Amino acid sequence: MAAILTLGILGALLGLGLAIAAEVLKVEPDKRVQDIEKLLPGANCGACGYPGCNAFAEAIVEGEVKNLSVCKPANEKTYKEIIKYLKDHPDKDGNVIKVEK
Ligand code: SF4
Repeated sequence: MAAILTLGILGALLGLGLAIAAEVLKVEPDKRVQDIEKLLPGANCGACGYPGCNAFAEAIVEGEVKNLSVCKPANEKTYKEIIKYLKDHPDKDGNVIKVEK
């Protein structure tokens, strides 16, 4: 009986610890990734060198991408929309991600 009680309490404490850790260590996704992905053609063709449009959008937000023209299915309008979006949506510190067409 004592062993069952001990394991039950231990399980509850570990579960509580995991729940607290999940809340404290939670990383909020950057909304800009989803927004930029919506602006991309959505072909998920990989021509940009990334496994899909979401990965390309992440790379843009992380500052890895310097030239949007690597996305071949996109057109001038798409490039301009993304550049405008990035200008209008700086990060928390006010830094604007700079990319070219
Ligand atoms: S090239 Fe453009 S359409 Fe193709 S996966 Fe990359 S971002 Fe998406």
